[in-house]
Amino acid sequence: MKIQELDPNDDSVGYGGLPNAEGVVQLDASCMHGPTKRAGAVGALENIKTPSEVAKLILKYTSHIFLVGEGAKRFALSFGFKEEDLLTEHSREAWLRWRANLSPTDNYLDVPDSDHLVVTKTGTINCDAVTPQGDLSSVTTTSGLSWKIPGRVGDSPIIGAGQYCDNDVGAAGSTGLGEANIKVCGGFLTVEHLRRGLKPTDACLETLKRVVAETEARLLDAQGKPKFDLVFYAVTKRGEFGAASLYPNHFAVHDGTDAKIRDTAYLFTRA
Ligand code: ASP
Repeated sequence: MKIQELDPNDDSVGYGGLPNAEGVVQLDASCMHGPTKRAGAVGALENIKTPSEVAKLILKYTSHIFLVGEGAKRFALSFGFKEEDLLTEHSREAWLRWRANLSPTDNYLDVPDSDHLVVTKTGTINCDAVTPQGDLSSVTTTSGLSWKIPGRVGDSPIIGAGQYCDNDVGAAGSTGLGEANIKVCGGFLTVEHLRRGLKPTDACLETLKRVVAETEARLLDAQGKPKFDLVFYAVTKRGEFGAASLYPNHFAVHDGTDAKIRDTAYLFTRA
């Protein structure tokens, strides 16, 4: 997690993550540790490159679970984290272009080259892990939706949505439109599907069906298909794994020796 958060070229998490509507990077992360039944989370964290590390410190050293905003930052600084500018040249440029093209009638001239223009971009990492002994843990980190309203927190830092872990059963997490996940508590729901015996891929598909059932009309196209994507990932105590998405997607698996990219199962194809 930390490696990706520190990578300036990854604009979906940590340092270099795309900022909110005011050009400020606000990061979210959460984690759970199965054996100790602990959890930690941070929301709307500014100026700290590695929110997943801060979430882990909350898990390890406090009796709380979720710190947000200024308090979360002060907590991180007290543990020796450095306050840093999280914008990179790329992410600042992307935000400037978004702002310029927001309205044809404002005083910012529209940018003709639309190559780098992004309306809203998602990007998150969820990692669910199991040891050979069957101990589980999970973590999710993100810079959230690009250009979000300042203060917006997505699913990633919400225990039971962005990720969930039960050491007796399995772990699960999600990436994609956070608002769609929050409404079904998708991380928790997927682990509950595992608990009643579904295989990981089927558990993820089952959660996605619930997401579709809970989707507002404004987010469905004429065929009733969601206008966004959402992915769920799951692993069991026995090491079975799977992932599913609304539309064809990919996920990475590491068996301790090799990493592989796999296709997700999915509910819909794009027109
Ligand atoms: N789930 C994240 C959020 O809504 C975004 C993403 O996965 O790309 O904040």
